[in-house]
Amino acid sequence: MDYRAHNFFPGPAALPLEVLEQAREELVGYRGHGMSLMEMSHRTEAYERLNEETQELLLSILGLPKGYRALFMGGGASTQFALVPLNLLGPGRKGWYAITGQFAEKAYEEARTVGDAAVVASSKAMGWSVVPSAEELKVPESESGQVAYLHITVNNTIEGSRYPVLPEVGEVPLIGDVTSEVLSRTMDYSRFGLFYAGAQKNLGPAGVTVVVLREELLKQASTSIPTIFRYETYVKHRSLYNTPPVHSVYMLRLVLEWVQRQGGVAALERRNVEKARLLYDVMDASRGFYRGVVAQPYRSVMNITWRMADEALERMFVEASEREGFAGLAGHRSVGGLRASAYNAVPVEACRALAEFMTEFQRRHG
Ligand SMILES: *Cc1c(COP(=O)(O)O)cnc(C)c1O
Repeated sequence: MDYRAHNFFPGPAALPLEVLEQAREELVGYRGHGMSLMEMSHRTEAYERLNEETQELLLSILGLPKGYRALFMGGGASTQFALVPLNLLGPGRKGWYAITGQFAEKAYEEARTVGDAAVVASSKAMGWSVVPSAEELKVPESESGQVAYLHITVNNTIEGSRYPVLPEVGEVPLIGDVTSEVLSRTMDYSRFGLFYAGAQKNLGPAGVTVVVLREELLKQASTSIPTIFRYETYVKHRSLYNTPPVHSVYMLRLVLEWVQRQGGVAALERRNVEKARLLYDVMDASRGFYRGVVAQPYRSVMNITWRMADEALERMFVEASEREGFAGLAGHRSVGGLRASAYNAVPVEACRALAEFMTEFQRRHG
């Protein structure tokens, strides 16, 4: 085996080594078909079966009841910022947005180009250190008829915060960007009318975007937008209307099987909590040498963010970490600071090594 870095990249991000090795085994010749899966028509029985089974496996791992459908789309989560309002924000109705970070803000800005979008809560003035409470996001009975949906970003990848619990929305469909959140903790996914995730954080390589929706929601969907933008098209054709990103779907399948072998989402959640605690404990014991960005109850378990005394010291930290075999610890270019993205595929050992590195770095520079 080649040397493997302690990979804390925010996305694309670490994949399970087992998955990469299995993909390597099957890359040139896919299961006796005499060719790679990437060379095979998506209309073959082999691909159609893979496509179908991967959708079913995802719904089953998420514990979703009948009535939900999984779609495989392209364009990343950012395309969903536009497709959600194009499909679901009809005239005379309002899309509600909770702004808890830069991706949430982008989703809102895209919705404004489509229809009537409103900010119902924002943590921008608080430096993104909190997320709104369930109470703040309650849709009053009197308004629920006009509200097309409430959109939230469940885990804020850049800022390092997350919703500890999902808001109560009653009859209003809850829409979730779960790109850096999906499969990281047990959650009642049936609380969502629709959620979406670019695959490149917790699900696989870039290239496929997973959208899961309650079929009933299609009743409010627009039919005056191009066919290729309609969720209905993907539902009707089981995501085979046009050529899907076949290799990315295949990799997603391997990742989902890996999730099952780990014991499912509950087992991953226990491991993720342990991983994040290793890093937060060092921060909290550092007497301000490492300063967490997010208030305790809203701290993300996937993206752990902190600041240090000044930018020079932060730069020195990143450079020293890279010499020690760590990758991806610089904060997002727009906010600076430091960030460790500890997605499902990042092993506990990598977090333990990082915690030790942080302790040692403080000893030398604190
Ligand atoms: C990464 C990320 C995005 C952007 O995803 P793309 O696939 O690059 O469009 C959007 N939302 C969240 C929460 C993310 O983490």
